[in-house]
Amino acid sequence: MANPFQPPSGRPKRPSQYKDFSATELYCPRCKRAVPVRTRLLLVLPQGDQYEYRCAFCGESLGTKIDKTSPFPGVLK
Ligand SMILES: [Zn+2]
Repeated sequence: MANPFQPPSGRPKRPSQYKDFSATELYCPRCKRAVPVRTRLLLVLPQGDQYEYRCAFCGESLGTKIDKTSPFPGVLK
């Protein structure tokens, strides 16, 4: 028995994480104020990905951070 009133199977998925948007604000010495930052992937290290924070206005480098990946690489999900 086929139901002619099947609900649409393709439900819009809600993105759970915004990877390239950061709410972080850092002080920029060139703008002389707290600014929104852009993260840029700098290096892929064994212990995680190193990102660089850059001022969204002038592009000044404001620091780096290491986004640690899973402590157990290769683990089954
Ligand atoms: Zn700046």
